[in-house]
Amino acid sequence: MHTQSITLAECLALDQADSLRSLRDLYQVPEGLIYLDGNSLGVLPKATPARVAAAVAQEWGQDLIKSWNSAGWFQMPLLVGNKIARLIGAEEDEVVAADSTSINLFKVLSAAMSISEADHPEKKIILSERTNFPTDLYIAEALCKERGFTLKLVEADELEIALQEDVAVLMLTHVNYRTGAMFNMLAMTAAAHNVGALTVWDLAHSAGAVPVDLNGSEADFAVGCGYKYLNGGPGAPAFVWVNAMHTNRFWQPLSGWWGHSAPFEFTSDYQPATGIARYQCGTQPILSLTALDTALDTFLEVEKLGGMPALRKKSLALTGLFMRLVQVELSAHEFGIATPLDEEMRGSQVSLTRSEGAYAIVQALIERGVVGDFRAGDGKFQADILRFGLTPMYTRFVDVWHAVRHLKEVMDSNEWQQPRFSHKKAVT
Ligand SMILES: *Cc1c(COP(=O)(O)O)cnc(C)c1O
Repeated sequence: MHTQSITLAECLALDQADSLRSLRDLYQVPEGLIYLDGNSLGVLPKATPARVAAAVAQEWGQDLIKSWNSAGWFQMPLLVGNKIARLIGAEEDEVVAADSTSINLFKVLSAAMSISEADHPEKKIILSERTNFPTDLYIAEALCKERGFTLKLVEADELEIALQEDVAVLMLTHVNYRTGAMFNMLAMTAAAHNVGALTVWDLAHSAGAVPVDLNGSEADFAVGCGYKYLNGGPGAPAFVWVNAMHTNRFWQPLSGWWGHSAPFEFTSDYQPATGIARYQCGTQPILSLTALDTALDTFLEVEKLGGMPALRKKSLALTGLFMRLVQVELSAHEFGIATPLDEEMRGSQVSLTRSEGAYAIVQALIERGVVGDFRAGDGKFQADILRFGLTPMYTRFVDVWHAVRHLKEVMDSNEWQQPRFSHKKAVT
């Protein structure tokens, strides 16, 4: 517990000394905005508009169908996948960018179930965490219903007890979207393998936020998101990784023509491609892939400045600073901190809890140009959350200082209690 605050001048000095500070210039962060929601929708890389405009004007507008070859459209999902691979401890040709996270989860969870059924037909449990992201649980629920499995949900600290011989697949999100709590991937994967279970990891809040080592952890399957920390734009393609030892064992169930070994022979039977290409389904959104590809070229600039370890160091410093300022400056206002103080267990966000007014407080902050978001609790296991994503690519230490200063003013003045802040919008 910190008792000493930190001054604006000290934060300015931290920014001066930050070896990654030049990266912010690669992004279009709107003037005057403190954007702490890059874990929901990442900002626009400055290189993206021209690159997408060229794809529209030249590749689509002039070259039309030739572009499948001349502009490399057909290979793009795999080439973009190779760039993502560098951020998550995967090898070349192990990752493909395609579809959405939800759809990719359906593919890999189904493949994991097929492998488990072949090796251990008696195992019928998919184990996950009760506070996992809803779409992950919904997809798992539907697959379990269809295939005669049972989805078992427990609290994070009950997982080790629940990992018994009857578990076929342990399906977890590496960094929890509500709290920012991070699992130890190596240890959880080893615990799952110990009882003969496979692992499926969702990296939506990890890719580009924290170092990930899929092969080093001997994980089995992973999916992740393109529009959060990777800044691929709204609805950007997601990605999928499969451990090379499993890739060719089973078809994934969405056996569309893009996953075929020879899609342009137009044969009437399905022959899956060898390798990760088989995890594609149909025609990919090329303009969105172009935006994601550009965003990754921008992101990979960090490799010249120390790479993911340097980014991680800055991320921990930002989240640590945020929590310290909350503890010292806001001690009178009854906020809890849901994010682990332990650095080993923390992603790249800070989540505050409050029994009253969380939504209105977030709205009051947004009006002041400090953008975080609100996640409702269920009144039983979870509290309401004020969520602040601290993306180390473009967030400054002074941004954190000003954000907490605004929060303090909103609380000290009771500004959040003004009625206009409590009307709920469709998207929170
Ligand atoms: C953001 C997020 C998703 C998003 O899934 P979509 O299919 O892109 O809508 C899925 N899972 C987790 C854990 C997420 O954080």
